[in-house]
Amino acid sequence: MELLQKAIQERGTIIGDTIVKVDSFLNHEMDTALLYEIGQEFRRQFQHKPVTKIVTIEAGGIAPALMAGLAFNVPVVYAKKQKSLTMKGDVYIESVYSFTKQVHSNVTISKDRLSPEDHVLIIDDFLANGEAAAGLISILNQAGATVAGIGIVIEKSFQRGRSRLEELGIEVVSLARIARIGEGKIEFLNS
Ligand code: 5GP
Repeated sequence: MELLQKAIQERGTIIGDTIVKVDSFLNHEMDTALLYEIGQEFRRQFQHKPVTKIVTIEAGGIAPALMAGLAFNVPVVYAKKQKSLTMKGDVYIESVYSFTKQVHSNVTISKDRLSPEDHVLIIDDFLANGEAAAGLISILNQAGATVAGIGIVIEKSFQRGRSRLEELGIEVVSLARIARIGEGKIEFLNS
């Protein structure tokens, strides 16, 4: 998605060798026009799938998921990250390791929010090692829901997330794929 690549290139910053900071349009301040287009593009990419619900994880996934939900005209559910171990039996739960924060947290979705009839499109802002997506897949499996696919705004293709998810037989669509980050430059896979 050209508009997105341009935003990453012009407005993103690099931290170390692996982290891209996009607080100027996605993760802090949010560019609503760009996010609207992101939602429309997810709709185009997954129009062959019978999507009934979008699922994401707080906080970074919420904005693109909301726009995808709007484009599909389906509800959006975000998984909550909770430190507390005192969970009631009314939630699906999975432990997820955060790539950026380097901590494990328990990710939960209320059992009321998912059903075995759901065909769920998972949306997230970044794909690194696939931890967040794998955690959401586990929760959807617990609910007996079908995973329709995974839509990612920014994939770091030099990390193992995509191959891990594809091994599970799940379709992964990323709107921008970063091949490498180095010497202050971001290179995309298709350029
Ligand atoms: P994964 O779970 O695939 O290892 O990492 C994806 C999650 O970590 C995303 O939900 C995102 O919040 C965060 N993340 C991973 N890499 C980056 C990055 O380069 N920049 C930002 N802003 N977040 C990232």
